[in-house]
Amino acid sequence: MQNVKEMKSSIRKKDYLKIYNMTNNASPLGEFNCGELCDSICCTVESQNKEDIYSEMVLYLLPGEEEMLEHESGWFEMYYETTDEIEYPDSWDGEVYYIKCTNPPYCNRKLRPIQCRSFPVSPHLDKDNNLHLIFDVDDVTYQCPIISDKLDLDEDFLRKIYKMWES
Ligand code: SF4
Ligand code: SF4
Repeated sequence: MQNVKEMKSSIRKKDYLKIYNMTNNASPLGEFNCGELCDSICCTVESQNKEDIYSEMVLYLLPGEEEMLEHESGWFEMYYETTDEIEYPDSWDGEVYYIKCTNPPYCNRKLRPIQCRSFPVSPHLDKDNNLHLIFDVDDVTYQCPIISDKLDLDEDFLRKIYKMWES
């Protein structure tokens, strides 16, 4: 199986715009704000769990996705690493950007990165190159109630997130 970072190599800004527009209102439990179940732990884990040194919350941006935030500020800090510093897929070259949200769970929801839109599922390709969405349990130090209680995900959310990773 391939993971999320291996799937997207280079997407243009206009494609990100389309994806963002399509998924702006997609939410894991539909109309219900799942943040009410957990005090938005997937956004706020760092401030809630200071003794957990693994709880640093960053959102990786897909290649080129940093351009979506180039005229935006006030709710995140952006950093980058170079691909020779850390092991990334071969198709990722140069700088890999990530953000830290500075006032979670408040942000400009229309510019949430794809990694945030997709949680709590992430994409994987099987050996026949078929795309699957699976619960994202990698590197997560907190409990997402949707995952732990096996709650049914909203169909519209699943459809749009699938389409997002397919495009
Ligand atoms: S941890 Fe899970 S239930 Fe809580 S806000 Fe995040 S996605 Fe929703
Ligand atoms: S982008 Fe917004 S919703 Fe996503 S983790 Fe940051 S504060 Fe939370």
